Amino acid sequence: MEQIDVAVVGGGQSGLAAAQALRAHGLRPVVLEASERAAGSWPRYYDSLTLFSPARYSTLPGMPFPGDPDRYPHRDEVVAYLSAYAARLDADIRTGRRVVGVRYGESGFEVEAESGERIAARAVVAASGTFGRPYRPAVAGLDAFTGTVLHAADYRSPAAFAGQRVVVVGAGNSAVQIAAELVNGAQVTLASRAPVRFARQRILGRDLHFWLRHTGLDTAPLGRLLREPPRQPVIDDGRYRTALAAGVPDRRELFTGVDGVKVIWPGGEREEVDAIVLATGYRPDLPYLAGLDGAVNGAGHPLHREGISRKHPGLAFVGLEWQRSLSSNSLRGVGRDAARIACHLAAHLGRR
Ligand SMILES: Cc1cc2nc3c(=O)[nH]c(=O)nc-3n(C[C@H](O)[C@H](O)[C@H](O)COP(=O)(O)OP(=O)(O)OC[C@H]3O[C@@H](n4cnc5c(N)ncnc54)[C@H](O)[C@@H]3O)c2cc1C
Repeated sequence: MEQIDVAVVGGGQSGLAAAQALRAHGLRPVVLEASERAAGSWPRYYDSLTLFSPARYSTLPGMPFPGDPDRYPHRDEVVAYLSAYAARLDADIRTGRRVVGVRYGESGFEVEAESGERIAARAVVAASGTFGRPYRPAVAGLDAFTGTVLHAADYRSPAAFAGQRVVVVGAGNSAVQIAAELVNGAQVTLASRAPVRFARQRILGRDLHFWLRHTGLDTAPLGRLLREPPRQPVIDDGRYRTALAAGVPDRRELFTGVDGVKVIWPGGEREEVDAIVLATGYRPDLPYLAGLDGAVNGAGHPLHREGISRKHPGLAFVGLEWQRSLSSNSLRGVGRDAARIACHLAAHLGRR
């Protein structure tokens, strides 16, 4: 069986940042990526997506984002940036390798790919993101809805919804952005349990991320104090707040149930709708750790302290929401967490 230092599961920004940090410690990581390219889930995000963070606050360690640092890059520019980052990295990146199991082996871990290939790794970094595990809220009758129901993970563009009555569920960035672009051809309601909270994209002429960085809020290690990640506000230059105030889309409290092709609004009104789009977030996608005792809890959430497994010192995580700080699961912040876990793994493997 092939023997390696560290297996990094996932070749998105988190896996690439981890590989870069591990190389800096003289370790030789092997990145195992399920898809055919090392650009994470970005190629699968919806077509109109532009970053909420400007280019200067959307970089991984060691490589600036090309072009005007104050613009908000499009999804495809992030794909190009990550592909270029991967190509420059002095690391063994293997695409088309979905990891299906990690268990204890003779000299550390044994990592198994879908193809049956097995690798012995002295350490493992789980960097597989959340996009592969969309969260669907429990709403009575939703599974039996006879119209179209899809998660934001499967939404690409408004074209398929032209002329339809659509309910978008959620109150975060994706929900508001998708609802706002659907209104051009469809009749849209944004439905959520809580009202939408906004954060101004620009304050005193500067992008929000400038203030987050300069106040220290971006990197403050508050993650371990939180029992649950707080809800992120919608970052807005004013257009979404204005659109919601004008009722396009209108906002309502989440429907209480679904009956056939109808949603049941609080108060009892039943309304026929064509489509329900669930922009209700994601959960850590770590099924391959289920057989490793104490790595994840019953709900599949990692058991860790600032990215280091509580039970297995040779197992680390990167890219978790609030892993350490507000910026942990962002382009600008993941490199900092990757450096910390790489330092820990290097010490653990005796390679300081
Ligand atoms: C709609 C949306 C907009 C966002 N906008 C911004 C933004 O403007 N700025 C910002 O900084 N952040 C943004 N984020 C947050 C974050 O930066 C992205 O979600 C980013 O893609 C997370 O990177 P990742 O590497 O952790 O996970 P992913 O990008 O999901 O990459 C994980 C990789 O692991 C692979 N994988 C999964 N399971 C396995 C397995 N079992 N074996 C092998 N490989 C596997 C996947 O194929 C994938 O390539 C946004 C997120 C979303 C969803």
